Amino acid sequence: MLKGKRALVTGSTSGIGLGIAHALARQGCDLVLNGFGDAGAIETLRSDMARTYGVGVHFGPADLARVSDIETLAAQCQTLGGVDILVNNAGIQHTSPVESFPPERWDAVIALNLSAAFHTTRLLLPGMKARNWGRIVNIASTHGLVASVEKAAYVAAKHGIIGLTKVVALETAQTGITCNAICPGWVLTPLVQKQIDARVAARGISPEQAKDELVGEKQPSREFVTPDQLGALAAFLCSDAANQVRGAAWTMDGGWTAQ
Ligand code: NAD
Repeated sequence: MLKGKRALVTGSTSGIGLGIAHALARQGCDLVLNGFGDAGAIETLRSDMARTYGVGVHFGPADLARVSDIETLAAQCQTLGGVDILVNNAGIQHTSPVESFPPERWDAVIALNLSAAFHTTRLLLPGMKARNWGRIVNIASTHGLVASVEKAAYVAAKHGIIGLTKVVALETAQTGITCNAICPGWVLTPLVQKQIDARVAARGISPEQAKDELVGEKQPSREFVTPDQLGALAAFLCSDAANQVRGAAWTMDGGWTAQ
């Protein structure tokens, strides 16, 4: 379905981004992976994916909190012939009450979870326009729609990326380019594992109890969303069937935001 297309998936060395990269490669899409991690492990991931799916897989080692790195990554993508699908997924979390939220953590969360998506979009959209085909999929969160305590920067960034999604969707509405956001509920990735570990440390409860409490507080299904499920949704948004899905903030959250 996506043979001949190339996707940049930011933050694809782990978690949701990796699930989306697998789903797109399964459709025949070439990939540019990005994210942090051990260089040897990333090279193994890159070559395994290329072999398993028979697609081209490159790695762009950009720190997306730095605009100059994003510009280098975009130039690397142009050298490959541009990207048709941009998945803005890389993200971090920091939890703290707002009055003691460290300003440098605020800046770091906003830089990666919001500004990076602006920069990749502004740099890669012209190539999509030239080909009159493109897909931009922004990984927001339920926290783009509703708030939780102690997540000021994250909630602000995720609300912001849904706003950015809508603007880009409107500016591309009469083209073959779509821009949408996906709003996952809890997904058991390293980002969430840190929050489970913090509960275990703070309350002396078991990891299983901490996991159950965390999901149960917000997610009526009491089950985690999986990276595979999110990958399937991203692949759908990249399909022709989704040509008229524009500016959506599509939840996959076990009922979290239905309450
Ligand atoms: P994760 O920690 O498993 O993966 C994050 C990825 O981003 C990794 O590949 C990491 O190396 C990369 N990354 C981190 N900092 C980076 C930087 N400065 N430059 C480039 N890459 C960087 O996290 P995840 O849970 O898979 O989260 C992915 C996205 O999904 C994030 O935007 C997150 O906010 C969002 N999300 C996660 C959940 C959840 O429950 N896990 C829920 C809703 C939304």
